[in-house]
Amino acid sequence: MARSLRDWLAHSPLPHLESRLLWQQVLGVSRTWLITHDADLPDAGQAAAYQALEARRLAGEPIAYILGYREFWGRNFHVSPAVLIPRPDTELLVECGLQAIAGLPSPQVLDLGTGSGIVAISMALDRPDARVRATDCSLAALAVAEMNARALGAKLLFSHGNWYDSQLGSEQYDLIVSNPPYIDSQDTHLVQGDLRFEPQGALTDGADGLSDLHRIAQGAAAYLRSGGVLCVEHGWDQAAAVRALFQSSGFSDVASLRDLAGIERVTWGRLPA
Ligand code: GLN
Repeated sequence: MARSLRDWLAHSPLPHLESRLLWQQVLGVSRTWLITHDADLPDAGQAAAYQALEARRLAGEPIAYILGYREFWGRNFHVSPAVLIPRPDTELLVECGLQAIAGLPSPQVLDLGTGSGIVAISMALDRPDARVRATDCSLAALAVAEMNARALGAKLLFSHGNWYDSQLGSEQYDLIVSNPPYIDSQDTHLVQGDLRFEPQGALTDGADGLSDLHRIAQGAAAYLRSGGVLCVEHGWDQAAAVRALFQSSGFSDVASLRDLAGIERVTWGRLPA
């Protein structure tokens, strides 16, 4: 017997919100449409499509990869398993970056390891006068970032490569931002939950979690103008170590900022003028 959308939602083993998002995806409709049409009977093709998505979710696949997008800084970004799923914590990195260039006309910004492009694109859209370059060592990730930039109307420059080995030329930046892989390769979270499905190279440096942060801090002075700012995201227990890395790399005014959970999540510093 045909089931109404209301029955499908009531009988799903998934949380209601997830089941609703999957139905919206299958039918290509809004939340409001779904609520006002919940007596409708999906046809057999729609029901089969829904069940296929539900099975993927029950097997642990992150909802963002199934839907193909995640919201960040008020906009929807396309995501695929080539890139990390945007985290709300990373909005602090955008906030810190925007603050650092607040008084500067036409600032030059470099985002190292851009992934889906959320940081670079959010900054470029909030500061249309900024010249923003985004790099990644993964061509598949750069393709996602380029797609997002195009879809959201952000004008960016892209470079393929690992950190500073990315054809950056002789340009000098006012700001370098990065959300690098910072999870210790021994951390058991890497084999649990959503993280199992994410690109491991974007999550962990394959070492203690500080090696890429180290390279980024050490190399920054060669690409920043004097008075320029470096701003990075890091793990919940890395703030003191990252501040020390910044200080030994020549930065002053080094400070860490707390995320909404009260965790020191972003560290920034300024090159002496
Ligand atoms: N914040 C992510 C997590 O803890 C890690 C992201 C990263 O390594 N840059 O799951």
